[in-house]
Amino acid sequence: MFNIQAIHQNGSNVVAKYDKRPDLCPVCHKQITPNIGQGFYKEGVYDETGLQIVFRCPSEKCQNIFLGLYSGTPQFFYLKKSLPVKNTTRQFSEIIQQVSSEFEKIYNQSYFAEQNELDMVCGPGYRKALEFLIKDYLISKNIAEAEDIKKEFLGNTIEKRVDQQQLKIVTKRAAWLGNDETHYERKWVNKDVKDLKDLIELTIRWIEADKLTEKLLQDMPDEEKKP
Ligand SMILES: [Zn+2]
Repeated sequence: MFNIQAIHQNGSNVVAKYDKRPDLCPVCHKQITPNIGQGFYKEGVYDETGLQIVFRCPSEKCQNIFLGLYSGTPQFFYLKKSLPVKNTTRQFSEIIQQVSSEFEKIYNQSYFAEQNELDMVCGPGYRKALEFLIKDYLISKNIAEAEDIKKEFLGNTIEKRVDQQQLKIVTKRAAWLGNDETHYERKWVNKDVKDLKDLIELTIRWIEADKLTEKLLQDMPDEEKKP
């Protein structure tokens, strides 16, 4: 818990209590312990204008000023978000780029939506990214059936075509969550975009491991299979 001398809308100083300082700079996206500037307190308001604090990023390259927005009660405020957010993009490994040329593009459009609080569209966007990733991966393993794979429902594709048990477990859950994001009624109420993203990360790890193993076996085949 922290205290700050904040300026009241009538010009006086008040002491406001708040839970934490932002540990991520919204401009350079580095982990930071920010320098603290002035706080501004608005009496009678408990949304994100209740307490606003000016911070400065200590990173030598960045040094940008940003605002921490807090909401809560006059007794205690909680950090809600930091502004302004400079949009950033993700770059995926060469393996993932080779598996799916569209995945990175769809993922980053969803990521843009998430960073700009377009929370009604980022979930379905991530779900679409996941579908491209899984289907393109399966197509890369079975090009002859590409057209069938493209037409299938994602859940069916996973059930029918993913052999590795652990990959199946992960991708199935990702597909469930993803379905939920695009449907009107949500079944997995306690799961959100973060869980969907975690499952995408796990799927990526699996695909990378599988492709690396495939390459290793090509470079170093079993003794008995050597020509
Ligand atoms: Zn910064």
